[in-house]
Amino acid sequence: MKQSDFPEDIKPHLIPSPTGDMVYRCLECGGEHGIDVLLYTCPHCRGLLLLEDRAQYLLREYPGTFWRRLFDYRKMLNVPALKGLIAPVIPLEDIIYLGEGHTPQVAANDSLKEEVGAAFYFKNDGQNPSASFKDRGMAAALSYLNFLVRKPGAGKMLAICASTGDTSAAAALYSAYLGERVASAVLLPHGKVTPQQLAQPLGSGARVLEVPGVFDDCMKVVENLADNYQVALLNSKNPWRIRGQESYAYEIAQSFDYDLENIVVAVPIGNAGNITAIMQGFIRLQDLGVIGELPRVLGVQSRHANPVFRYYLEPDKSKRVFKPVTVQPSVAQAAMIGAPVSMPRVIRLVEEYTRRAGNGSVAVIEVTEQEIMDSMLLANRAGHIACTQGGESLAGYRAALKEGLIAKSEVGVLDATAHHLKFIGFQQMYFDNAFPPEFEVTPKPEYQNRPQLLTPKTEDPARKTADLATQIAALLGLTPKEK
Ligand SMILES: *Cc1c(COP(=O)(O)O)cnc(C)c1O
Ligand SMILES: [Zn+2]
Repeated sequence: MKQSDFPEDIKPHLIPSPTGDMVYRCLECGGEHGIDVLLYTCPHCRGLLLLEDRAQYLLREYPGTFWRRLFDYRKMLNVPALKGLIAPVIPLEDIIYLGEGHTPQVAANDSLKEEVGAAFYFKNDGQNPSASFKDRGMAAALSYLNFLVRKPGAGKMLAICASTGDTSAAAALYSAYLGERVASAVLLPHGKVTPQQLAQPLGSGARVLEVPGVFDDCMKVVENLADNYQVALLNSKNPWRIRGQESYAYEIAQSFDYDLENIVVAVPIGNAGNITAIMQGFIRLQDLGVIGELPRVLGVQSRHANPVFRYYLEPDKSKRVFKPVTVQPSVAQAAMIGAPVSMPRVIRLVEEYTRRAGNGSVAVIEVTEQEIMDSMLLANRAGHIACTQGGESLAGYRAALKEGLIAKSEVGVLDATAHHLKFIGFQQMYFDNAFPPEFEVTPKPEYQNRPQLLTPKTEDPARKTADLATQIAALLGLTPKEK
């Protein structure tokens, strides 16, 4: 819609000019640091940072009803930079938009609802440009870098990250879009990302460096590099990424017309960037009166990489101690992390969330590899495009229903965090019954599927087609047309 056609009271607010008074806030020492440089940990105490807008209280001059109308009208506006909700200090011309966010929320069909025992949606984050949810945060982080490098005398920048596959795909894609000014290098655990995920940063022209070990080993190397060299770290310690990923919460709020009373938001947890961003996003909306009730949040981990689940097993808050775990092979490979860097954010936000919405408003549950695979296949056979981590969301949702953590009357929004096709190798292992024993997955025959090769009984070109058609008609049990 043209700007001139919007209601008079909305017009002046449609296109925001850069405002806000953003600082990095340290979660450990409370210290405040200016955003004129990229920081990912506190220079004083190495604590994790969150981005805070010291002028956010100004937004409260308008009631929640105003913001709801404005957000809904902005959705009708054809200004790419306003498609996501990013940091208010960045001028619109520096904001990069590659089509991230606003991913479809697809309702489970009747048979899937019946099988699972409750109504729910998948939010298809695989329909982001690099085919995972990481794009929301990467758009924010690279918009900020773009803002920095466009300042006079800023020079070039090297963006670097460690990844379980999808962060590197997103980082390489957005850096490629920025061209010369930002080069990108990614560190991957050798043999622990799928061929599709490896192909993505290679295709975008990033330097791809493989390190022996698992993600946690890559992360240590990247941190060492960031401590000792001039690089921009794009891991989820980077508070700009967390800020960008908050918009997942805004999208859900908008899709339910800001009424989240009966909603359960289920997400897989790896490094815990996503779940913390989502909690923070809902809290921010509540602070501004945009939503009333906070939705329930359900974090899901595989039994093979479950440090957050283990932490919350201890019911007594004062006795909880965080212990990293050594991960076992997991089909939810993008979440196969034993020492999540965002753990301090998790602890803080779960406390804040629970203070507002009560005990049980955040729960963390664990599932088996078998449950993850079976849930993924079940969903995709009902018309979804869930990856293994999306299967993990569904497996967790089913387990939470079974354990009575959530009620059947609640409505789930399950994050299918990446596209099915990125993790297609695990589906193939399931179909071929080829999982190494440590995965502990036994295929269910009813979910296995294989192509069937037909051999024509004749090489005579005149009869070959008819022969193949006859074979297929017999296989499919087709009824001949009446002549
Ligand atoms: C990164 C990733 C996760 C884990 O998210 P965190 O923010 O690290 O907790 C889950 N699924 C997919 C597909 C991912 O790429
Ligand atoms: Zn600090």
